[in-house]
Amino acid sequence: MTAVDLKTNAQKSAQKPEVLRAVKGMNDILPAEAARWEWLEDKMRSVLQRYGYANVRTPIVEQTALFVRGIGEVTDIVEKEMYAFEDRADKHGQAEHLALRPEMTAGVVRAMIEHSYLRDSGRRLYYFGPMFRREKPQKGRSRQFHQMGVEALGFAGPDVDAEVILLGSRLLRELGLIAGEHFTLELNCLGETAERLAHREALIAYLEQHKDLLDEDSQRRLYSNPLRVLDTKNPTMQEMVNAAPKLLDFLGEASMAHFNGVRAILDAAGVGYRINPRLVRGLDYYNLTVFEWVTDKLGSQGTVCGGGRYDGLIEQLGGKAAPAVGFGMGMERMLLLLEEVGVLAAAPTLHAYAIVPSSQGLPQVMVALEALRGAGVSVQFHPGQSSMKSQFKKADASGAGYALIFGEDELAQGLVAVKPLRREGGEQGMRSISCAADWAAELLNA
Ligand code: ATP
Ligand code: MG
Repeated sequence: MTAVDLKTNAQKSAQKPEVLRAVKGMNDILPAEAARWEWLEDKMRSVLQRYGYANVRTPIVEQTALFVRGIGEVTDIVEKEMYAFEDRADKHGQAEHLALRPEMTAGVVRAMIEHSYLRDSGRRLYYFGPMFRREKPQKGRSRQFHQMGVEALGFAGPDVDAEVILLGSRLLRELGLIAGEHFTLELNCLGETAERLAHREALIAYLEQHKDLLDEDSQRRLYSNPLRVLDTKNPTMQEMVNAAPKLLDFLGEASMAHFNGVRAILDAAGVGYRINPRLVRGLDYYNLTVFEWVTDKLGSQGTVCGGGRYDGLIEQLGGKAAPAVGFGMGMERMLLLLEEVGVLAAAPTLHAYAIVPSSQGLPQVMVALEALRGAGVSVQFHPGQSSMKSQFKKADASGAGYALIFGEDELAQGLVAVKPLRREGGEQGMRSISCAADWAAELLNA
């Protein structure tokens, strides 16, 4: 490159800075979309509160070791997907190994142990938040995604497994989704360590007999994570994995009793499920009950929610041994599913839109709007000068139920014209600005 080229480039970039974009796989949620998120979050919170679950918020960044120990070294998440990095060194030259959380269960458990929250009683918790996994971005899969999750810590019985499943089922139902039509609940029991080890031995022996059929991923997992081989989506392996030894056949009495306990409650409550003996979930910490809500409406990203029991995790992370169960629900996938089946979020609209023909009376108008907001009315005005016609257009587009017209003559008399923008709103009339609180109620019914 010549000096002349350099100069022109420098001049060019001085004129027009490069447009920076969001990081691949990390999406903006713009206002129209964000309104749907708020709608969904509100619906979810309303259900969570009815079950007495309390909100918890933990940091996005944790020690890498938390996830390595919590999720498991040979899981896809830790092996391939985690955003882990070395922090800047402190004054002693020591740098911490940190990671963006790929899920939140490990963080919630860490927080509960750190703050001695599990000492005297169990805890029922929920969270919302972004998670990070370096996966191939596609529909229903991004690198920053969001989960709503619940964790019930310190409860051993199948009743609490059933409770979190009932909670999840109610959530889907209250969102307008229909079991069997829009989603299916899949259920399995992973038993306890000794049972899984006995099954694992039998499974490895079986897979070794069919080594020629295993694809590359499965070869790699044969000894490190053979259960995950059963989860393969490779069609040429289906027949072979279908005939593999089933974990359910290796379960002892206590595990079967737990599983049957969960089933009895779901049956009594009329919550349908399909037992999927190959459901293993991708994280290491699960035992006994595991479950997923799956849909066939979202292609291969069909799991909207997954969870299960993880009785060993609290102790593994340094706490006093205590049982636990929970699930994580993918917010993006929930929204995609709701859209796919035509359940649309009710977009929030304004009660009223203020039309101000002249900026003369603005202070008086702003004070009147404050009084209305104080009485619970949502109202916006058009900033800057523009014609009545264009302000009326804005008022219509805002979806507001009423236009409040602050004409100069009316303002001088302390009055405002209230005009219904929808037919069912009644007649236009004049109201007194100084007693806005008295007629606010009619706007609220918009
Ligand atoms: P998948 O098999 O689809 O990769 P997973 O087993 O890795 O899912 P979990 O770790 O159980 O998923 O997370 C719970 C939920 O979070 C999933 O059911 C899904 O709805 C959502 N989820 C997981 N990873 C992503 C992602 N990369 N983008 C969007 N949502 C995700
Ligand atoms: Mg995954």
